[in-house]
Amino acid sequence: MVGLISGATALVTGAGSGIGRAVVRQLASRGAAIALLDQDAEAVGLVGKEASELGAARVVELAADVSDRVAVQDAFRSAADELGPLDALACAAGILVPGGLTEVTPDEWQRHFDVNTTGVLHCLQSGTPLLRDDAAVVVVSSNAARVPRTGMLAYAASKAATSALTRCAGLELAARGIRCNVVEPGSTDTAMLRELWRDPDGGASATLAGDPASYRVGIPLQRIAEPDDVAAMVCFLLSEEARHVTLQQIYVDGGASL
Ligand code: NAP
Repeated sequence: MVGLISGATALVTGAGSGIGRAVVRQLASRGAAIALLDQDAEAVGLVGKEASELGAARVVELAADVSDRVAVQDAFRSAADELGPLDALACAAGILVPGGLTEVTPDEWQRHFDVNTTGVLHCLQSGTPLLRDDAAVVVVSSNAARVPRTGMLAYAASKAATSALTRCAGLELAARGIRCNVVEPGSTDTAMLRELWRDPDGGASATLAGDPASYRVGIPLQRIAEPDDVAAMVCFLLSEEARHVTLQQIYVDGGASL
């Protein structure tokens, strides 16, 4: 993989918000050429403008639902037509609808898998022929993939499958020198997290302190992550500095997976 500076090519999903947006901003400020994919076309446009202002070598805006296999294939093809082969792929698109064992509906269960798991599969399958040999892939999963959480049954199960599928794909792609790693964030200050908090201040302090009633430890570092904290790990794993790192699942959660 060429260094992620001046002209390296990258595709980022979930680019319109939160962690995906932070990844785009960090890649842009290093001069990468970036394809932004999100279901929210307006958000893609806004983040695309930011990326250009920050110094992206090129920006390609793609609106697609990652659960739609054909739409993802078309979007990846457009990205490669515009940018050429990809040096880096970061998959951050995801959803979380709270619900425990007795609450989760069949539709909610299915949608988590369609977006969080099959959506990543679609990106890996569409991306594989377009990735350069020695490219790097990072999939944003969740610490819930490995730590049981109350009220997050479908989300956690879909993310555990996502982490596993990424590492299996990485094992197959290693022969081409393509690295695949998984970043598993904890509570990160984005729209997804804030929607879980009915009272924003109370939500933050309860998350930091933990809650024995739901078997949840707090965050030892006593801070909610900024999207940039997670994006920094994603960008490190996409970079040449991580050239000997593959098939890893790395928590970025301030110690919450204790
Ligand atoms: P976010 O701010 O809601 O951003 C997610 C982005 O993905 C949004 O722009 C969203 O569009 C887009 N998206 C959702 N479904 C999509 C689909 N089917 N196709 C294409 N784009 C889609 O959330 P975030 O916190 O940055 O989440 C990024 C990733 O980090 C997710 O995979 C999430 O599970 C993971 N994560 C987050 C946290 C956290 O505390 N924030 C913790 C652990 C893991 P809309 O706005 O239109 O929905």
